[in-house]
Amino acid sequence: MTTAPLTNLWQATANAPTFAQTHDAQSVDLAIIGGGFSGCSAALEAAKAGLSVILLEAETIGFGGSGRNVGLVNAGLWTPPQEVEDTLGKAAGEKLNTALAGAPALVFDLIDQHQIECDAVRNGTLHCAQSYYHKKDLDKRLDQLSARGAPVQMLDEAETQKRLGSTHFVASLFDPRAGTIHPLKFAQGLAKAAQDAGAKIVEHCPATAVQQNGAWRVATAQGEFTAKYVIIATNAYDHKHVRHPKNQFSTVQFFQSATAPLSDDQAAHILPNREGTWDCATVMTSLRLDAENRLILGAIGSLDHATAPFHKMWGRQKLRDLYPDLPDMPFTHQWCGKIAMTSDHLPKIMDFDGKGYAPFGYSGRGIGPGTLFGTQMVKALINQDESLLPLAPIEQYDEPMTAAKSTYYECGAAAMHAGYPVLKHAKIG
Ligand SMILES: Cc1cc2nc3c(=O)[nH]c(=O)nc-3n(C[C@H](O)[C@H](O)[C@H](O)COP(=O)(O)OP(=O)(O)OC[C@H]3O[C@@H](n4cnc5c(N)ncnc54)[C@H](O)[C@@H]3O)c2cc1C
Repeated sequence: MTTAPLTNLWQATANAPTFAQTHDAQSVDLAIIGGGFSGCSAALEAAKAGLSVILLEAETIGFGGSGRNVGLVNAGLWTPPQEVEDTLGKAAGEKLNTALAGAPALVFDLIDQHQIECDAVRNGTLHCAQSYYHKKDLDKRLDQLSARGAPVQMLDEAETQKRLGSTHFVASLFDPRAGTIHPLKFAQGLAKAAQDAGAKIVEHCPATAVQQNGAWRVATAQGEFTAKYVIIATNAYDHKHVRHPKNQFSTVQFFQSATAPLSDDQAAHILPNREGTWDCATVMTSLRLDAENRLILGAIGSLDHATAPFHKMWGRQKLRDLYPDLPDMPFTHQWCGKIAMTSDHLPKIMDFDGKGYAPFGYSGRGIGPGTLFGTQMVKALINQDESLLPLAPIEQYDEPMTAAKSTYYECGAAAMHAGYPVLKHAKIG
């Protein structure tokens, strides 16, 4: 078996725009900490509204989840809409569901408006059932989504197998609102559009402290400055604990492996419509093509952990099972990233007296939510109207046992992947 180096395909295939490395800010309207979808969309919205804005990124734009993800631009959350309403209450749940149903449109509109070259394909996504037992989950989602006006459609076994080019699945839920992007290029494109609109984007410049004392004071190694408003968008990659000193979420690692580009003949049969896909397994698997027809397989698990060999072996075997006719193709890129997972799997927005926000915990669905939350947080600050947020902000939030839960997720994924040769016959894995 060929072992691929740990390189991120998105990093290897992006052309990073040039951003500043230094700042001499004294005072700004809005300071943003973190250059992922949340921070970059906020910077763009603020600059377009005429605010003076500085975005500090500790590493490079898209270093966190935004530059590592699968690139599925989905409507809604992982949590089905009825559960969202049961958890938040009907009115608040409906508000969040409605806002997130429109999130792919926001993402694709921003891509169009700012001519962001990020390999955007809006051909929908397929949530696939690997057995009739798993299809029950899709039936439930179909009912709930249809009742809320979503144009989703159940595809039967023959159609699903034709779309995937694999006999592995018995049905799929097609969502035409969704699509795929090169996620790092999208994050970089948002930051470039914000810079073009007047925002100062500074890379390799971690905020070392953010304090509210009348105005906000933001400290960096290059000096301190003040800000009227702050958005702390560090999410799962919080560095220096600028967001909050306590535990607010557990982390789930997700890794991906990409093959070399498929031949035209192979690509004609595998995902010919280029939908993004994922399955119904507890330890979920994702599958998509990139712009060069590399097949990208993803699953829960860390490649930075002692459990990595189990995940890598599973990847090899899973690809063979999905596509037995495909000759063994080495993985040319493998990488992983951290997902911030809250206990109810719903995102949160911390509120700092209406003078700042910190969103986190998108729980695996951050392209649409991050872009929407970033945009709406700025509107809420400018108008001093928190009803513009898709979700009521909270002042306090702590979760117990987050480290133990993170270990549990990793060990559970490793056990499923180690046991895959046996479990697959029961269609569990
Ligand atoms: C492997 C993986 C697959 C995923 N797949 C999907 C998917 O297909 N679809 C989907 O919708 N979502 C997906 N997600 C979730 C999604 O990627 C995240 O929810 C989203 O990227 C979060 O964006 P963000 O801007 O809030 O945070 P991030 O992108 O994590 O950005 C936070 C940034 O803050 C910076 N930072 C931290 N501390 C400081 C500091 N002190 N000073 C300055 N900067 C700082 C970090 O360096 C980082 O760049 C996936 C996530 C992962 C990890």
